[in-house]
Amino acid sequence: MQNTFEHALPDAKGYFGEYGGSFIPPELETIMGEIAAAYDECKNDPGYLEELARLYKHFVGRPSPIFYAENLSSKYGVDIYLKREDLNHTGAHKINHCLGEALLAKKMGKKKLIAETGAGQHGVALATAAALVGLECDIYMGEVDIRKEHPNVVRMRILGANVIPATHGRKTLKEAVDAAFEAYMKDPITQIYAIGSVVGPHPFPMMVRDFQSIIGNEAKVQFREMTGGLPDNLVACVGGGSNAMGLFTAFLDEDDVKIHGAEPAGRSLNLEGEHAATLTLGEPGIMHGFKSYMLKDKEGEPQEVYSVASGLDYPSVGPQHSYLKDEGRVNYGTIGDDEAIDAFFELSRLEGIIPAIESAHAVAYALKLAKQGEKGSILINLSGRGDKDIDFVVEQYGAKYGIESLV
Ligand SMILES: *Cc1c(COP(=O)(O)O)cnc(C)c1O
Repeated sequence: MQNTFEHALPDAKGYFGEYGGSFIPPELETIMGEIAAAYDECKNDPGYLEELARLYKHFVGRPSPIFYAENLSSKYGVDIYLKREDLNHTGAHKINHCLGEALLAKKMGKKKLIAETGAGQHGVALATAAALVGLECDIYMGEVDIRKEHPNVVRMRILGANVIPATHGRKTLKEAVDAAFEAYMKDPITQIYAIGSVVGPHPFPMMVRDFQSIIGNEAKVQFREMTGGLPDNLVACVGGGSNAMGLFTAFLDEDDVKIHGAEPAGRSLNLEGEHAATLTLGEPGIMHGFKSYMLKDKEGEPQEVYSVASGLDYPSVGPQHSYLKDEGRVNYGTIGDDEAIDAFFELSRLEGIIPAIESAHAVAYALKLAKQGEKGSILINLSGRGDKDIDFVVEQYGAKYGIESLV
């Protein structure tokens, strides 16, 4: 089959311009080198690529469709299309890289997949891939997120994974990353850290991007079939940045396509700890093994961050996004909690699609473009479905949208 995983960046050391690289203890360097070499073999191995393609088609249900959102389009006076990653098995884009990572781990003879999870989506996707491929699975998750995303915790347990709470600091995604990293360091030989986004040391930002780039590869063909051309705008939400890189990669060389990333402004951009707008307000630095824009506190440590979307509250971002920001190829803007929740209800009630709160940030960004006078077409990456969020949304925001308690 055709190899769609070849890109100019990163360089051999994992750099996208000045970002990325690998800042890790010496004992991990050898292991990362082995993972990079194994991945290099896999991406040129027809057997591996065929198996991945088979699972994408018959297990995940790919290709995910593009849907023309007619009601939303006529209300906002612009053509809005949705790339339906919410329809994937497990309900989000994360299964795309989890299957790639699980097959790689199996090929390398690893016994256990370990990872952190925020909204629980990465945990569920990885536990799913582990069950399918036949590997053990330990998932680290902040105590706050465990409560907020309870249904996903139950799913992981049913799928046979261990869910291990991170109990320090804000007890959310960053702390889960710390805990998972610590566990990985204890045994990097039989375990593999299956990173949940385009972050971490080389080769992960490249590998996860490559696995996710199927989104944009499909979308380009599908959009041409539907309209005869390419979209004028792409929009995706940016937490770590994997669904965004997944959509963007196929279009980076298409100069006529404007590309937008939506970061979470949370409750306020003016208050430290109340947002996770890394590219908008951060500065270059090193954390979790790679160089990128990050939000630092006064001591230079990673800031505490917040978003109503658990999957978006991370104080750094994939290094390729930092590069694309500096190059001016992608516009990064912000969407606050309230705008995201508005878009969550707007899409639910106009199109019959309940989006993940993460994805609702992308929808809100597209509606903002329309309100600002954009007339061209907009292709939104609908990264996941909102089933995981419904109880939280109704509890916190139901009254504002006419949903009073029924119990
Ligand atoms: C995890 C998640 C995100 C954020 O992760 P990225 O790596 O930025 O894509 C966005 N949407 C959904 C539905 C998620 O589960």
